[in-house]
Amino acid sequence: MVINIHDVWVHAKTEHHQYLDNRIQRHKPTILPPTAAQQHAFDFIERQKSAIYSIGEIDPICAIEDFKNEIERKLPIETTNEILKIFKKIFNYSSFSDKKRLKDGKWCAYTACSRIKYDYCPYCQINSIETYISADESNGDKSYRPDLDHYYDVASHPFLAITLGNLVPCCHVCNGPQGKHSNNFYTNEHLNPFTSPENISFKLEHITGSIINLRSPHKSFSVKIYNNGCTKAQRSITTFRLEEKYNKQTQEAYYTERRLHEAKTRLEIVKHELPFLNKSIEYALGFYPGGDSYKYTAIGKLKMDILHDFLSKT
Ligand SMILES: [Zn+2]
Repeated sequence: MVINIHDVWVHAKTEHHQYLDNRIQRHKPTILPPTAAQQHAFDFIERQKSAIYSIGEIDPICAIEDFKNEIERKLPIETTNEILKIFKKIFNYSSFSDKKRLKDGKWCAYTACSRIKYDYCPYCQINSIETYISADESNGDKSYRPDLDHYYDVASHPFLAITLGNLVPCCHVCNGPQGKHSNNFYTNEHLNPFTSPENISFKLEHITGSIINLRSPHKSFSVKIYNNGCTKAQRSITTFRLEEKYNKQTQEAYYTERRLHEAKTRLEIVKHELPFLNKSIEYALGFYPGGDSYKYTAIGKLKMDILHDFLSKT
């Protein structure tokens, strides 16, 4: 992942918690006493409520460990399979993502996605993850939403199938066969957009490795990607093909750096002291260079890294 989106679902929290409450309640056993599988399943849900209800503030991996230790390793295989069946019914992703629910005005993947805080895929920060809800689909005006990647795969961990903190809104390219696809992020650890630091960084470099000279045409440059010594970051770079994708962003990176240099030169001519005005940086980047503004724009992280590199040289 390029950017951390721990708060991406913050505007969907209340409705989604209500939705989870209702689903769990509806599936509680009505005939008492409950079977052993029912007892274990609902005890597990109670124990792991904060993981199952996570909207990104905690890594639901604790529920996976608990399932392995307390259910898979301790109980007979038949009971474990029964428990998995119960989880599949309660945490039913097909039902949550069914467009019919949208038509019926019910909470679903579409309404949840319409509350997403950011506009670009956290895995690449290049492609849009916008949502559109149509007022009337009958005349061909279709609603759409981004892909929702189950960070921890749903087949092995059905209890996290509709946990927002396990659903990464992302682009089709990153989620598809050319990206994550069936890669298991539990066994093959990558950066987690909800909980990992932004360990991938970018730099505009001259292809010969010589000191940057912006008089050369942009074709003499390329965007280099760094994993900062982090294995998970390197896996994310490889899986999401960030080198190929960011190489195509070289021209935009080059002109960002040029605008920064020109702003500096202009300000030096009019005798402004460094650090120069935020306004000029904002103009060069195309967004305000503070807080988390860079998360709201395509390749914002790349542009911020160019800015930091530029400031370190001036
Ligand atoms: Zn993407």
